[in-house]
Amino acid sequence: LTRLYGPLTALSNVRVDVMSALVSFDRVFEVLDLEPGIAERPDAAPIPAGSGRIEFRDVRFRYPSADQVSLASLEDVTALDRTEQEEVLTGLDFTVEPGQMVALVGPSGAGKSTTSMLVSRVYDVTGGSVLVGGVDVRDATLESLRDTVGVVTQDSHLFHETIAENLRYARPGATEEQMWEALTGARIAALVRALPDGLDTVVGERGYRFSGGEKQRLAIARLLLKQPSIVILDEATAHLDSESEAAVQRALAEALRGRTALVIAHRLSTIREADQILVLEKGRIVERGRHEDLVAAGGLYASLYRTQFTEAVI
Ligand code: ATP
Repeated sequence: LTRLYGPLTALSNVRVDVMSALVSFDRVFEVLDLEPGIAERPDAAPIPAGSGRIEFRDVRFRYPSADQVSLASLEDVTALDRTEQEEVLTGLDFTVEPGQMVALVGPSGAGKSTTSMLVSRVYDVTGGSVLVGGVDVRDATLESLRDTVGVVTQDSHLFHETIAENLRYARPGATEEQMWEALTGARIAALVRALPDGLDTVVGERGYRFSGGEKQRLAIARLLLKQPSIVILDEATAHLDSESEAAVQRALAEALRGRTALVIAHRLSTIREADQILVLEKGRIVERGRHEDLVAAGGLYASLYRTQFTEAVI
């Protein structure tokens, strides 16, 4: 998911214009996160508030080639056909029921990140459909999709602004009390309180620099302010010190409680707790089930478990 945030950095100079042109924080992400061609349909309908079900129906996906992206604006459809990328998802079927946690595991390049990106519509499927709360995400209003699905990645972006401003992107109009509540839930309140300017501390490259674990906890605070019913989580593989690590884990446990979660899982503790584990290999689900059953089945999961999952962090 790192590549999602490349464009954010590249666009940091135009951010001021974007900010002044748009009312809500989420709209900034709408502009910056989505690939060209992702737009709201004129007849788009909102996803019902509080929806927690995710469904993948025979989902296929191939990345647009570089040519396709530039040619798309020229509407040169015949040229598009000549530059087909390989399919990276070749027919995924699964459902995450409201409140469930589903873990995506599998070898590098199997398609875990790609799968997670299709839920928040960073990209659109090239076959089949993804439904959130029973609505095909391509038919949903972007605002309702942003309100329903929250994303926590390994490197959440902080704007060069105050902590309060960064938090208000998640909930415009949040009161200081609500922000402190979220920071407390995310196990980062004590640190912010100790800063000379507290919530008004400017962060980012030229401001106060948070560590990786602290940034993750700020991303969790945003999630707690936003209260989405679905969370897409890319678990950290970055090496945090054990204190940070424990704080992030506690904060996440709080943030995920009662929500639907689709987790790119790297930790054995998460995988063991999952209601369902989906084992991906080369863009398809090759095994699914709970930890004990998959270990007993003696397939790919069992061998990943033997070779990679024995440590606390994989
Ligand atoms: P990892 O565990 O290493 O993060 P993953 O299971 O999340 O891997 P994906 O990142 O979803 O796998 O990648 C699936 C496939 O899609 C890989 O073959 C990858 O090279 C390819 N891929 C990923 N991003 C792009 C892109 N922007 N353009 C073209 N191909 C891509």
